[in-house]
Amino acid sequence: MARRLFIVVSAPSGAGKSSICQKLLQVCPEIKFSVSYTSRPPRPNEVDGKDYHFISREEFQTRINQGEFVEWVENYGNLYGSSAKTMESFIHDGQDLLLDIEPRGARKIKQKFRGGVYVFVLPPSRDELLRRLEGRGCETDKVIQYRFDQAESELKEISWYDYIIFNKDLETAVNQLVSIYRAQKCKRSRLQREIKKFISETPI
Ligand code: ADP
Ligand code: 5GP
Repeated sequence: MARRLFIVVSAPSGAGKSSICQKLLQVCPEIKFSVSYTSRPPRPNEVDGKDYHFISREEFQTRINQGEFVEWVENYGNLYGSSAKTMESFIHDGQDLLLDIEPRGARKIKQKFRGGVYVFVLPPSRDELLRRLEGRGCETDKVIQYRFDQAESELKEISWYDYIIFNKDLETAVNQLVSIYRAQKCKRSRLQREIKKFISETPI
């Protein structure tokens, strides 16, 4: 089996990142999702422990003090953080891991861990981004505007990502992410052990 891999997916809010990531996990159930912690309230369709661990701001702060996050940020007035335990178990268990996090957190992960693949999802246009934010139908106009404005600074980070996916048609975007994952699993550098084993066991 190819050496383990973690994928980090970022996007401006509303670009469709969660939709794409959920489909990737359905198509490739061998990938584990890094369930982040957040102090924001759940949306109607979200499940605690699956989409996020929803906790209070106070509990989040306690967990920061206890060093439980490998990275965390304040975003749109809420706290978001990736579990250090999940990252440790990725290193020890070797199961592939998907992180759905914004660029500041992604950058911290890149500084701390080698070998990740970084994917940035873009909407087809700014107008469509706004339409999708509004279409989600679960945030106030103020929050929607805030998220839309934040896209500007997030876009500046795009230069250091490995892959870009334009999420115009959802199915095409999912196929692209699945292809990126599968191609990464075939990289020679991830298969060194298997290649050596093959060479030592196979008489030419
Ligand atoms: P993000 O996780 O990037 O904030 P979501 O996955 O929540 O974005 O998507 C935002 C909204 O856009 C949702 O209502 C979702 O159903 C919709 N959406 C996602 N991808 C597409 C697409 N390719 N075409 C049209 N609508 C989409
Ligand atoms: P949302 O509130 O729309 O679910 O998420 C807002 C933003 O926070 C998204 O860009 C999402 O990727 C990001 N996010 C979710 N979890 C984490 C996390 O653990 N760390 C960081 N840095 N960002 C996160």
